Amino acid sequence: MYVSDDRGEDASPPAAVGDRPAEMVAIEHEAAERVANALVIALPLAAVVLAAWLAWGGSLHWQDLLVLLITYVFTGMGITVGFHRLFTHRSFETTRTLRIAFALLGSMAVEGPLIEWVSTHRKHHRFSDLPGDPHSPHAERSAGLRGALGGLVHAHFGWMFRGQDIANPRRYAKDLLADGDLRFISRTFPLWVLVGLALPFGLGVALTGSLVGGLTGLLWGGAVRIFLLHHATFSINSLCHFFGRRSFATGDQSRNLAWLAPITFGEAWHNNHHAFPTSARHGLGRRQVDPGAWLIGGLERLRLAWAVVRVRPEHQRAKRVAGAA
Ligand SMILES: [Zn+2]
Ligand SMILES: [Zn+2]
Repeated sequence: MYVSDDRGEDASPPAAVGDRPAEMVAIEHEAAERVANALVIALPLAAVVLAAWLAWGGSLHWQDLLVLLITYVFTGMGITVGFHRLFTHRSFETTRTLRIAFALLGSMAVEGPLIEWVSTHRKHHRFSDLPGDPHSPHAERSAGLRGALGGLVHAHFGWMFRGQDIANPRRYAKDLLADGDLRFISRTFPLWVLVGLALPFGLGVALTGSLVGGLTGLLWGGAVRIFLLHHATFSINSLCHFFGRRSFATGDQSRNLAWLAPITFGEAWHNNHHAFPTSARHGLGRRQVDPGAWLIGGLERLRLAWAVVRVRPEHQRAKRVAGAA
């Protein structure tokens, strides 16, 4: 059943015509933000080194891997199904309880507060690979191999340290600003990061019955999980605008990168996504693995999701690159 993909293939939020708020706003505590960003990138990396060293020494247990798997799946779905498909693109509708649950799970992924994440991502769609795109590997890059590498690093995480401004939520996320629950969750972001660390600790204690199990649960389900999910998400911005296939004609450099799809829960069908941003399903081909879409489909069957946006086959055909799979 096709609910409608007529809400437009443009991902832009409802922007006020006429008196439009400014594109960008200054970061409030810029120096503190840079330090926080550096810590959020560096600490999980240090933890991965520690975890690898411990695992090499034989102190890796199945409980640690189970905590890692559970936290990765829940926070990863929080990002792709929650922050991205539900809040940024409104690909489906759901209950208030689930909206809050997705907002909390996505916050625990430590990719920034919900409203800032959505504003940045909507701006990415509006300017995709052109000046104004917050994290394009192509816009404003210099020529040659050095320029390509610089562009990839910028798109992966360098962009977080360059700007002094962020996409203005009053322009890009007015709909979310109007929702008191979401505003509260976004404003109290550091609290949900801490909850996202306390849960794997508690899970580790519960599974092993020991404090040490709690600490290794925190290491694997907290720091290692954050590291893995960060770089999976960052790769969508860097690799998926650089390597892979283009099935649909879009005005940008977005690509489908099959090997990255399972660990990003379907996000890596990124060329499909730029072609049809509001589609709940990113893996449009029959063999294109898209666990995020499976979750939405499951919720729909349980009547916990509705107004799920699907792309009509004729719309897909109209945009398909000649000869593309
Ligand atoms: Zn993109
Ligand atoms: Zn998007």
